Amino acid sequence: MHEIDYVSLDADAECPVCGEKLANFETKSGPGAQVTLDFREVDSFYSRCTKCKSIIEFSLKDPVKAGDREKLTVDNYQKKSVIY
Ligand SMILES: [Zn+2]
Repeated sequence: MHEIDYVSLDADAECPVCGEKLANFETKSGPGAQVTLDFREVDSFYSRCTKCKSIIEFSLKDPVKAGDREKLTVDNYQKKSVIY
C-alpha cells in the first residue's frame, strides 16, 4: 500500500471555496515513506480545508526542469477544489 508523504509550504494558501487558511498538506507524488517534503519537490499535493472540508488540490501548471524547481512558488501551482 502506498503511504502518503507530508508537504511543507512556506507560504500562505487559502481555500478557494471559503477563504480559510490551509494547513496539513499531503502528497501521493512522493516516495510514500511518510517523510516531509518541500512542496517544490512534488508535482501535486493537497489539503483538506478544516472549515468547509473541501479537498484542495495543488498541481504544477507547467513542466519544470529539475534545476529550476527551487525557484517555484505556490503561484506555479494550479489550485482547485476536488470531490473524491
Ligand atoms: Zn474551505
